[in-house]
Amino acid sequence: MSLALTGIGVTSGIAMGRVHRLTPGELALPEYHLEAGAVNTEVTRIRQAAQRSERFLGEVMTRVSGRGSETARDLLEAHRLMLRDPMLIDATCERISEQRINAEWALAQQSEQLQEEFRRLDDEYLALRREDLEQAVGLVQRELAEQPTTDIDARIPHHLDRTILVASELGPAELTLLSQRRVAGLITEHGAPYSHAAILARSLEIPMVVGVHHALELLQEDEEVIIDGHYGSVLAEVDDSLRRHYAEKLDATLRHRNDLKRYLGRPSLTADRQPFCLHGNAELPLEFKRCLDARVEGIGLMRTEYMFLEENLPDEESQYRAYSNAVRTMNGRSITIRTLDAGGDKLPAALELTRGPNPALGLRGLRLSLSIADAFRNQLRAILRASTLGPVRILLPMLTSVAEIHQARQLIAECREQLRNEGVKIDPDLPVGGMIETPAAALDIESMAPELDFLAIGTNDLIQYVLAVDRQDELVSHIYDPTHRGILELITRIVEAGRRHDREVTVCGELAGDPAAVRMLIGLGVHHFSLPPAQVGAVKKSLIECNSRRCRELVESYRSGNALPDGTDLLTALAERGC
Ligand code: PEP
Ligand code: MG
Repeated sequence: MSLALTGIGVTSGIAMGRVHRLTPGELALPEYHLEAGAVNTEVTRIRQAAQRSERFLGEVMTRVSGRGSETARDLLEAHRLMLRDPMLIDATCERISEQRINAEWALAQQSEQLQEEFRRLDDEYLALRREDLEQAVGLVQRELAEQPTTDIDARIPHHLDRTILVASELGPAELTLLSQRRVAGLITEHGAPYSHAAILARSLEIPMVVGVHHALELLQEDEEVIIDGHYGSVLAEVDDSLRRHYAEKLDATLRHRNDLKRYLGRPSLTADRQPFCLHGNAELPLEFKRCLDARVEGIGLMRTEYMFLEENLPDEESQYRAYSNAVRTMNGRSITIRTLDAGGDKLPAALELTRGPNPALGLRGLRLSLSIADAFRNQLRAILRASTLGPVRILLPMLTSVAEIHQARQLIAECREQLRNEGVKIDPDLPVGGMIETPAAALDIESMAPELDFLAIGTNDLIQYVLAVDRQDELVSHIYDPTHRGILELITRIVEAGRRHDREVTVCGELAGDPAAVRMLIGLGVHHFSLPPAQVGAVKKSLIECNSRRCRELVESYRSGNALPDGTDLLTALAERGC
């Protein structure tokens, strides 16, 4: 009988190997008052500890290479910036001088105060900043306790390809070292699927399960374990039949992944020769490379919220750098850059004051951008400047009225004129499209479509607003139904308006990355999809193997009120009868 522990799977991968426990080792962090004459020495001590930590991060950064290295560098850089932030080390030095307390104590107090401020803002992005802070502080504490982080180099074996590493938690720097040693899999007692270490494990494709409580106590050094990321489970006390089962499963997963890759280079045609077009969704630099590897035709949705995570809004220059890097990476393929879609569940710290009583129905998306016109101009100017380097389109989120489109277009025209006066030449016809993701936009699509150059259906929000189901709320997730006839009605309406006004219609919500749902979408007349790069193989296979005419007949019949044969659901019926 095996022992099963559960946590949250970060990647869907499987790993088999032997446990190596990475125990943290207690740090000596004393707290005491200082003699007046000792203050300067203590300030120097913490500054030097911070410098050594920075140096350590710099060294790890130079060692990162290969797959996932860009994300790793970004994360390590975030820790370096945290160490340089005056709110951390400078403020700790002030505490040492003002309160005459030792460095460890002052750092603990300062870090607690910052954590408290981050906690009060209760935001998913800030949760990541909290994690950066914790890890940067941890590095300095180790230096102060004279147990430098470089110790980890010595504490872990060099060859980890048959090893599942178990730790309380892991930071990006540690994860980078572990990936270089080809660790087979990772288990942590703490952490969430959107933590930095998790993001990194995904991009490095290392199977990982986080949040496995008491794993360090329950798993023995060198015992055999299996990680199943799909179910977020860790299996110990492995017997022969389980070992055989997972060895076969691992083999099948690898074969399936390779099998899907074969579809990437195939022509984008359904079984009945109807063309379709796949674009990628990308936000972080690494995702653009992934999109290229997946051979998408361009980027159909570049979300820009991640640039707005910091305390201050990003300036035009830093945004320009990010957009132009993306344009260069895509090397001639078009990029659709969505203007800031803050608000709702993703409100950056700098815009906290704009949070209303019901954020999903409040100042979000384009409404918010129009209310902070100077910041919006910075973003528009940065996008327009990047458009001189390659094909770029602007996408406006969360539209509800034609008036909003006019206001946005007016600002775009002003920015273009300004740039022209500064000697920057911009394509006067740079396309401006809109996200159709509110019931108002979908219902009034006849007025909206002529005002926009292309239409992007945001099914994530459209479903949330049409069905009145909060997309964040697990209690109602069972009624978040993409096949609801109300949704099909609205998508049909948008597709038909697109046809009448000769506007391209793309679906860029998560539905476009679901191999079953894309058959429903093609049945509704959608031919353009924008999806996460990891899903491209499976979606392309599903579309290549489907008969779009049969999908249309089935969806039409269902839409007009007919029940499905054998009481099945629409997506299952399409999987069986769409090919
Ligand atoms: C959507 O709503 O479908 C969409 C693509 O936008 P986001 O998920 O960023 O709200
Ligand atoms: Mg949306």
